[in-house]
Amino acid sequence: MLPRVGPSTASKLEGRGLVTLEDLVFFLPAGYRDTRQRRSPAEAADGEVIAVEVTVERFRQGFARGRFLATAEVCDDEGTPISLRWFHRVGGLGQRLQPGMRLIAVGATKEFGGRASMVHPELYPADDPPPPIAVRYPVVEGVGARTVSNLVRAALHRLLDMDGLEDLLPAPLVEAQRLPSLVEALRRLHDPGPELSPEEIQLLQQGRSAAHRRLAFGELFLLQLLLLRRRARWCAHEAAFVSPEAGFDREGLRACLPFEPTGAQWRALDEIERDMSSGQPMLRLLQGDVGSGKTAVAFAAVRAAVAAGSQAALMAPTELLAEQHLRTLEPWCRAAGVRVALLTGAMPRAQRNSLLALLAAGRIDLLVGTHALLVADVAFAALGLVVVDEQHRFGVEQRALLRAKGERPHLLVMTATPIPRTLALTAYGELEVSIIDEMPPGREPPVTRLLAGRGALPKARATVAKAVRKGAQAFVVCPLVEASEVLDASHVEATAAALRELLPEVGIGIVHGRMASEDKDAVMREFREGRLRVLVATTVIEVGVDVPAARAMLIEHAERFGLAQLHQLRGRVGRGGGASLCLVHTAHGPSSDSAQRLRVLTETADGFAVAEKDLALRGPGEIFGTRQAGVPRLRFLGFAGDGTRMLLRAREAAAELLRGDPELREHPRLRVAIEQRERDAPVYTAEAG
Ligand code: ADP
Ligand code: MG
Repeated sequence: MLPRVGPSTASKLEGRGLVTLEDLVFFLPAGYRDTRQRRSPAEAADGEVIAVEVTVERFRQGFARGRFLATAEVCDDEGTPISLRWFHRVGGLGQRLQPGMRLIAVGATKEFGGRASMVHPELYPADDPPPPIAVRYPVVEGVGARTVSNLVRAALHRLLDMDGLEDLLPAPLVEAQRLPSLVEALRRLHDPGPELSPEEIQLLQQGRSAAHRRLAFGELFLLQLLLLRRRARWCAHEAAFVSPEAGFDREGLRACLPFEPTGAQWRALDEIERDMSSGQPMLRLLQGDVGSGKTAVAFAAVRAAVAAGSQAALMAPTELLAEQHLRTLEPWCRAAGVRVALLTGAMPRAQRNSLLALLAAGRIDLLVGTHALLVADVAFAALGLVVVDEQHRFGVEQRALLRAKGERPHLLVMTATPIPRTLALTAYGELEVSIIDEMPPGREPPVTRLLAGRGALPKARATVAKAVRKGAQAFVVCPLVEASEVLDASHVEATAAALRELLPEVGIGIVHGRMASEDKDAVMREFREGRLRVLVATTVIEVGVDVPAARAMLIEHAERFGLAQLHQLRGRVGRGGGASLCLVHTAHGPSSDSAQRLRVLTETADGFAVAEKDLALRGPGEIFGTRQAGVPRLRFLGFAGDGTRMLLRAREAAAELLRGDPELREHPRLRVAIEQRERDAPVYTAEAG
């Protein structure tokens, strides 16, 4: 039976997310102590955890020099005196430490003034000794450690008795992975038997035991199954249009572009060609640093789609970026005979109507715009390819929208965020990935300098001002103040004011989250056209425009950004070729953790190297910035060792299962669980909008 729990304890447990029996059994111990070796603290190394049987001699507690102290003088069977000490009050300690009582004390040893002692030991009556391996759970505020551990154990036994622990993973699969079953794993974690060797306890303690790996694998396997099924659903149809290889002819493409594509661009194109001529809809992510030339690759795909008799849509996150795409694409399209048009929100009704009529009649081949392209009255004659720039705003729901329009187009999503492999496999696991890992020739990464410490900001601003006086245009980026947009705005304004003092003669514009998007776009246009020489901005998206003359950037309080985000930001300067400068400022000292982290940027220009570092330092949420909540929360990923290998194994195992049983007919419980998960947590939509 489960121990009785009063309402106040229950609510405290709930605060920790512990409500159901399952919650309890997946609440994993934080540590393990081997209590089998009874040792005298006299022989133990300082700080070593031991268990020792003792007899109580004296106990006293009270304040000494303003601090609380409780001390029990005890001795072990050899008569070695030991002091047990507590630096905070523990209820009932006096009753448990009466002279003559025999106890087992478990804890770390410490020498105090030549005397063996133990600080905050756990106490067990000698006739009710601790389990051979003492399990320690994470602290639940206001609930005693013993209570927590009793509850978890009771929950485990209860579920075992009811046969209520469902192992969703097929047994042969688990065996093939040489992992324990779920029941075995949980039993081992909560109730490690006395037969365990010290080495095995060590592995448990470090979270590297087979039981831990089993939980990590199970979680990854279910996620991969979900993602691969999602992919299969998208690809299970015949593509609306199949582009014959001729649509990708290299010479024809060369004739439309003003430059020779890089090797990396050709490779990405090969992969896209394979997808688009496969007969099934493409579902591909194109990754490449800012400036790596994704637009040209997208253009090649558009050209092939149009050659196959279909239409294409290119969606950008803002109208300004859509306009920019149009400007880039127009000459290429003209050369290719692709009829291109831009649909904006500001378009007069009559003009919009005639544009939509042309579109519906199939007399526009490529429509460029924002997500507004997906609204109901925008009807294509034959939509065969959708290209989405900056994919993180485009998720499962939007794809459903596409499907609802009755189309089975190829889908190419593009991102400038370098995504480490592990993360790509979890956050975008249903997409095939192409990577452009090479910059067009002649592009120099900006020289990145770190300015750290209290006096660094004026110096950084002065350096930017100097660059502007010499003719550069500059971005000055202020971090978002999480608490309020009002603060963001005032931050931006204060920075702009400081710069205006340094640069009274030039135009300085500001952009922040409280401005309407037309106003933001207007300021951005002035900056692009060179009428404003400095742009002070908070958000990342607004600096997403291509301003070739921008050759300097200052990022203030850069420690508040993720490294990957900073890398993406600095890619906005130096796009016009030639030398450029990125100043990274932090008010923390040069040897602070922040400064050390930021120094990575000065050491490498490789976005993937930066992202790997970021992932290692700050975890997945940071790669995409805080607004990107779409990354699945993997509770046990930390137990997967290096992560990537296990992920690949889990993905392969999931793929194999689906090959034999695509609808999971032989695994109904697994299917139900996956469908449940898909409903609860659409894995990779960040924002719905
Ligand atoms: P992003 O990947 O950030 O979208 P763009 O597609 O905007 O990059 O390309 C950045 C710039 O590089 C554009 O001006 C584009 O015309 C140019 N570019 C792209 N590919 C090449 C290439 N192979 N050689 C020279 N310039 C190129
Ligand atoms: Mg781009």
